[in-house]
Amino acid sequence: MGALDRRDVVQMDLDDPMARFREAFAIPNDIIYLDGNSLGVLPKATIERMATVISGEWGDGLIRSWTDHDWISMQRRTGDKIAGLIGARPGEVIVADSVSVNIFKLLCAALNLNPERRVILSETGNFPTDVYIIQGLERFLGGRVEARLLSYETVVDAISEDVAVLLMTQVHYKTGRIRNMAEITRRAHEKGVIVIWDLSHSTGSIEVDLNGAKADFAVGCGYKYLNGGPGAPGFLFAAERHIERCEPVLTGWLGHKDPFDFNDIYRPATGIERFLVGSPPILSIAALEAGVDLMLSADMRSCRQKAMALGHLFIRLVEERCGSWDFELACPQDAGERGSQVSFRHAEGYPIMQALIARGVIGDFRAPDLLRFGLAPLYVRYADIFDAVSILAEIMSSGEWKKPEYHRRKTVT
Ligand SMILES: *Cc1c(COP(=O)(O)O)cnc(C)c1O
Repeated sequence: MGALDRRDVVQMDLDDPMARFREAFAIPNDIIYLDGNSLGVLPKATIERMATVISGEWGDGLIRSWTDHDWISMQRRTGDKIAGLIGARPGEVIVADSVSVNIFKLLCAALNLNPERRVILSETGNFPTDVYIIQGLERFLGGRVEARLLSYETVVDAISEDVAVLLMTQVHYKTGRIRNMAEITRRAHEKGVIVIWDLSHSTGSIEVDLNGAKADFAVGCGYKYLNGGPGAPGFLFAAERHIERCEPVLTGWLGHKDPFDFNDIYRPATGIERFLVGSPPILSIAALEAGVDLMLSADMRSCRQKAMALGHLFIRLVEERCGSWDFELACPQDAGERGSQVSFRHAEGYPIMQALIARGVIGDFRAPDLLRFGLAPLYVRYADIFDAVSILAEIMSSGEWKKPEYHRRKTVT
């Protein structure tokens, strides 16, 4: 097989059944955006929706909009929509808070469902918030809870009968490696362990089937592949069979059975609403809902196919054109084991990424040495991959990345 040239990839875009979705996003012309796994891009529909919700619903409707525009059920409605993306049923998913806070809520619920056990099992090297929340809970609950944090490779084999709850991330944020949700859940259940899945890099990126895997609980992120906007609220999933038995710990007024009775005694709502805490950020949820609607209009299987093809192309082009510069593949070679991203290790990863960003190719850097590129199939084109790798090759051959300004560390990498 000969080397690819640009005409080949332009043809791939022309043949791409997903190509029409790019039009639905407001993407600046002068950049190649490969960071949708960190912050998704702005859908055009969101611009209009925000104008309406701000001027019409908030400006004119004011307090009446809780009822007239159904603000009060937005968290549930958007959750029901997300359910359709992750193999859950309506009533099992609710939009609320951040992923971190939802992890806290579900860890507490799971511990209460498994009261004889005290170990929370999870992995090191994951996105840190997951283990930080476990550590905070361990400190807060004194001897009631023991955090057991093991490496990616050893954690699954450490599932044992003293574990109350296992917190697992389905797609690793650095390597993009996909865990086998059904198999791990099955192994955990055999030992009486409840599993919480973190779907932050899965939702809108790979096909997820929570109920097919008999999952107990899950959390997920709104601002990555769902394109919900910076700091968009997250969501949580609780399997129908568990909901009524979950004792909320953050017992805020909106999770009450009858919040507008303003009763002195807390009683949990009957459904998934019991996981609500305080007043929802309506503007942010409106933006998230627009992103979710767009995602729902695409077929997840086609999204997945395209993301795999984009990753394959990226890896092939880096091998063909950047072979002499010590990039080491840091994600699985096999597309079936990899989420919608590719990553490479390089000792000079930070300045190389800064040089790429200065040339309009936006990926990100994850310490200590990882260059990470998100390949959101709704708006990334095959030609974008070709051009990004061409620019990478130019930066390496010219030594452009050596400029001192690219070596200064920013707060957000
Ligand atoms: C992005 C991400 C989060 C985000 O947490 P927030 O509290 O919403 O900021 C959590 N966990 C994982 C694995 C992530 O990738």
